[in-house]
Amino acid sequence: MFITRFAPSPTGPLHLGHAFSAMLAHDMAQAAGGRFLLRIDDLDRSRCRPEWEAQIRNDLRWLGLDWPEPVMRQSDRLPRYRAALQALWARGLLYPCTCTRADIRAAASAPQEGAPLHGPDGVIYPGTCRPESPPTGPMPEGAALRLDMVRAIEVTGIPLKYNEKGTETFLRDLPETAGDVVLARRDMGASYHLAVVLDDADQGITHVIRGADLAEATQIHVLLQNLLGLPTPAYHHHRLIRDAQGKRLAKRDDARAIATYRAAGASPQDIRAMVGL
Ligand code: GLU
Repeated sequence: MFITRFAPSPTGPLHLGHAFSAMLAHDMAQAAGGRFLLRIDDLDRSRCRPEWEAQIRNDLRWLGLDWPEPVMRQSDRLPRYRAALQALWARGLLYPCTCTRADIRAAASAPQEGAPLHGPDGVIYPGTCRPESPPTGPMPEGAALRLDMVRAIEVTGIPLKYNEKGTETFLRDLPETAGDVVLARRDMGASYHLAVVLDDADQGITHVIRGADLAEATQIHVLLQNLLGLPTPAYHHHRLIRDAQGKRLAKRDDARAIATYRAAGASPQDIRAMVGL
């Protein structure tokens, strides 16, 4: 059974890029006789708004999309995320980090470090808080927790791979390309990387269809699936919808909001044509 999902964060209106992602996933599920699920990625409570969720749902329905209710929402799943963190902590794969963004930028750009390297989450963590040996004792509450990437790769042992649009793709150089990523954010209990792998596994997602901007993060997700004993879905990272200047669309580009096109009289077919579906 083919099961895919669209997982918007309700932090702004649905724009053309997201509509493309949702319609593509919906079309592919239909073509495969499978299921399309909606999931609300509302981990970041400070930026999510019920009004945005309502409008996103309304736009998706207007586009002709359909999904089973009730939908999964990340804000309901903090105990699940916590339990996974506990399991990783118990294996000595996490450590608490007290660095601020400014600390990280300063340490990463220290003269002996050369130019700071960037990964899927921005500047690669220079390892300031990484302990020599795994921390013992109970997992701290309310702390940011990072994955010790070198140790994590060591414990998985085998070369990890996943299927990207039908092609076997191997994980490579995660300590250099991603570094010790955050799995628990201080302010929200989990990070996107941790939540997304647990959500996809718990929803039985067989195919993850999302923008190419998340392709790099997939390497982290496949590693986490392996560490947590979860299945790895097939991935399809699609082209990004760009504006006339070739810039990626962001949610703040309200000009490209589906609501704006609707107000101007566009039809769902017009939207499909605009994104090349
Ligand atoms: N909520 C994420 C976003 O808005 C999507 C995550 C995903 O598809 O894995 O970019």
